[in-house]
Amino acid sequence: MQDKPVVLVTGANQGIGLQIAKDLVAHGLTVLVGSRNLERGEAAAKQIGPDAHALQLDVTDQVSVAAAAQRVRNEFGRLDILIQNAAISNTNKLPGQSVEAYAKTTRPSNVSLDEMRAVWETNVFGVLAVYQAMLPLLRETPGARIVNVSSGVGSLTTNSNPAFAYRSIFSPVYPASKTALNALTVAMAIELEPEGIKVNAVSPGFTKTNLNGYAGTETVEEGAREAVRVALLGRDGPTGTFTRWENATIPW
Ligand code: NAP
Repeated sequence: MQDKPVVLVTGANQGIGLQIAKDLVAHGLTVLVGSRNLERGEAAAKQIGPDAHALQLDVTDQVSVAAAAQRVRNEFGRLDILIQNAAISNTNKLPGQSVEAYAKTTRPSNVSLDEMRAVWETNVFGVLAVYQAMLPLLRETPGARIVNVSSGVGSLTTNSNPAFAYRSIFSPVYPASKTALNALTVAMAIELEPEGIKVNAVSPGFTKTNLNGYAGTETVEEGAREAVRVALLGRDGPTGTFTRWENATIPW
């Protein structure tokens, strides 16, 4: 059994997840670097340092999810914080295609159901699968918490405002997957309220990563801040919130 608190970050081999992992190790936690490709997870963990450990975890693969939970139990004996960060934005955007051009191919009237299913499989069902697998471990740890990495683009309130500049790219694929993740966050927070396990959603802001072809404006250090802040809030922190740095509420 680990003395230090143990945190699992899904999709931590690159991007914002990797930075969250680095920051939490710097705060003295043991970090499990979730990675669907074990070698890339191992390389990331090595880069972070001895308190980071690679954990093979493909959130769309039930066998991988179950094996990861078993390994956490057997090798670390506890799980204090679960950060659900893994996500994809699409599977079929053409190289060099602009976000606006891609959005035109993913309207409700013409979106590929296969594309929508593929993205929701990772961003929505994958999150629920990992939640169900890791919850028994979290329940054994007093003060456990869950952080779901969502996005402001999933806000129904924001997208319902005709003055919002980016509402034309609100599509059933990635943006609506984050809306569904927000719904899951609220459902999880309600379920776990009686047990004192906190569940919150955060948005990194538009961050320079592989997810958007490095078109973002924020650094990964900036993108990771809110997830790290919320992960470290402790037992008296709130539940069922949706925020961006620093603790600015995003409307659902
Ligand atoms: P990223 O650099 O593309 O990282 C995404 C991570 O998720 C990668 O490690 C990827 O693994 C992993 N992943 C994808 N599918 C997976 C699966 N089936 N199982 C396990 N891991 C999987 O993107 P990012 O920008 O850091 O994204 C991190 C989070 O921030 C996501 O939830 C994203 O929606 C959210 N977000 C990002 C932005 C932004 O502007 N970047 C804005 C708002 C919200 P591989 O390396 O194997 O592909």
